[in-house]
Amino acid sequence: MDLERENHKLEKRLCRLTGQAIADYRMIEAGDRVMVCLSGGKDSYALLDILLKLRQRAPIDFELIAVNLDQKQPGFPAEVLPTYLAQLGVPFHIETQDTYRVVKKVIPEGKTLCSLCSRLRRGILYRVARELGCNKIALGHHRDDILQTLLLNMFFGAKLKGMPAKLVSDNGEFMVIRPLAYVAEPDLIRWAEVRQFPLIPCTLCGSQDNLQRQQVGQMLREWEKKHPGRLDNMLKALQSVVPSHLMDRELFPFETLQTTGQPTDDGDTVFDGEKAPANAASPAQGVPVSVRVHALRQPRPATGSACAAPPDPTQAQTQASTAS
Ligand code: SF4
Repeated sequence: MDLERENHKLEKRLCRLTGQAIADYRMIEAGDRVMVCLSGGKDSYALLDILLKLRQRAPIDFELIAVNLDQKQPGFPAEVLPTYLAQLGVPFHIETQDTYRVVKKVIPEGKTLCSLCSRLRRGILYRVARELGCNKIALGHHRDDILQTLLLNMFFGAKLKGMPAKLVSDNGEFMVIRPLAYVAEPDLIRWAEVRQFPLIPCTLCGSQDNLQRQQVGQMLREWEKKHPGRLDNMLKALQSVVPSHLMDRELFPFETLQTTGQPTDDGDTVFDGEKAPANAASPAQGVPVSVRVHALRQPRPATGSACAAPPDPTQAQTQASTAS
């Protein structure tokens, strides 16, 4: 009974978070024809499952078409998805293209396969979406994928760049949407068990390219275990960016910045204590000058304060590449 209640709560949470992301980013609108990409992994099964539930109760009409690209990887069980989708009664299309052979032929042994493989896959999926008359392409990436991408781009690409919930496809033709953007991966793992999706292993291509992603994923899981709620906070941080407190001169006009003579809520609180509320008065207000000067001359605390020395980025990189 308890398990049933837990599962019901999980279903409600998945639907609520997915519905919220769809609404926040206006991912789906009336009349849309959405191609739902299915790989046979837990995330894409859950995506289709939840979108079907949401469509039943949505106040607008939209269509869902499930699409799988069979890349002819060795051991791919070609009958699993058609059988599942036929039972579900959802319109679907299986596209068979032997990209595996092409990639193996072109890329020398021991080199990474993913870059060419994903480029080929993307081109094929765009063509299929066009042929099926779809205007949107839904992918099963979730919260943890988004955070992993953010950290990977920081650690290895030196860019503050994540994975958006909605974007225009690189050929400019389709809207790509990620309705599971707010959903935590552990919920999807549990949902796959609850629904007993016929999972297809994702390692059939034999590529080792995702090693760094796996390491970063492990690091995120350890953080969440030690500090529950950290990953949700990280996701919220992606939705609450303060360009004036980053260092991108394209995003904020640092060169032409002028003093205003007025206090500002969004000002520099670097000398505030750790627990100072966001709207606390400026540290200078009401404090005698001698005290302020003294405070500024205090040696920097080693850690745990807003004015502690920034972390060494090389340490972050070492952590990311050695976490296991
Ligand atoms: S993991 Fe395999 S299937 Fe996925 S992009 Fe890389 S080579 Fe292609």
